[in-house]
Amino acid sequence: MLLVVISMGCNPPRHLLKCYLQIGKGIMLGEIMTIFRLRMASDGAGGSTLVAFYGCPLQCRYCANWICHDEDTERKYYSLENLVSILSQDDIYFKTTGGGIVFGGGEPLLSAEFIHEVCKLADPLWKRRIETSLYADWERINLLVGDVDEWFVDIKDLQPKIYTQYAGKDDDIVLPNLKNASGRYEFE
Ligand code: SF4
Repeated sequence: MLLVVISMGCNPPRHLLKCYLQIGKGIMLGEIMTIFRLRMASDGAGGSTLVAFYGCPLQCRYCANWICHDEDTERKYYSLENLVSILSQDDIYFKTTGGGIVFGGGEPLLSAEFIHEVCKLADPLWKRRIETSLYADWERINLLVGDVDEWFVDIKDLQPKIYTQYAGKDDDIVLPNLKNASGRYEFE
């Protein structure tokens, strides 16, 4: 399912930016701002745990999560196993309410590779959702197409000039990404 929201709430080249660490072969650490358990019906149906990642390529004027840009904030790193272990504490809750994991941020697509690995380890009965601006290279979005059940897309604005004024970047990749993604999911 793909839900599109046009809202204004809420630099390195984008294809180089990433917000996880790869330490040696097969060891990844996610750079995570917060893990917010026991959320009810705030990120899709059922109960969920929000996993919010650091970093965002946009600079929205009224950024609701400014801390994701703050390089001085003390960083917390989670291994894949550590994160899945935390998520597993709410296994019954997820399964009985139809909820699961919500990947947010910041911009979680900067951590697409890490999220892809989390999804491989996560219980297949947990819902997987993502909250994103779709401001990322298509390869990262495509990597998660098979992993994520529901996408909450915040488009900011449909007028290019206003988008740029508000988000600090051109919207050149956002609508093509949305068009590509919409071919893979049901729209709501
Ligand atoms: S997209 Fe990024 S800059 Fe914009 S509100 Fe969200 S976190 Fe802040």
